[in-house]
This record gives sequence, C-alpha cells and structure tokens, in this order.
Amino acid sequence: MATRETDAADTVDTYEYATYAPTPEICPSCCMPIPAGQLTRRGMFARQDGPAVVAYWHTRCVRADGSR
Ligand SMILES: [Zn+2]
Repeated sequence: MATRETDAADTVDTYEYATYAPTPEICPSCCMPIPAGQLTRRGMFARQDGPAVVAYWHTRCVRADGSR
C-alpha cells in the first residue's frame, strides 16, 4: 500500500479568518502578547464563566485540528 506524504500545509481549522491585530492582544493559547499589526488568527474564545469573546491567536499557535 502506498502511503501519501502529507505536508503540514493543511489549513483546515475552526478559526474565522486570518487578520491583522487592530490593537495589542494577548494570545489565549500561550498568554504571550501580540503586537498591533501582526498577522493573527481571529476567532471566538469560549469562556467557561461568560459569553464567547473575540480573540486573536498567533498563527503559530493555531493547530490544523482546531484545538486551542
Ligand atoms: Zn500564541
């Protein structure tokens, strides 16, 4: 059986879209700051004790399987 090699270029994820951070943000995955103007992944961050809020992740913190 031939095995197809898969590059890490699979871009399927649960984030809404890539955008530039309008203001300095904190990445929910690594808790490190994201400077304004840096390319990020925008999505909804579901909090346990409140409604989901818009959040920005580092592109390197986004996994293809959608986990955060
Ligand atoms: Zn991050």
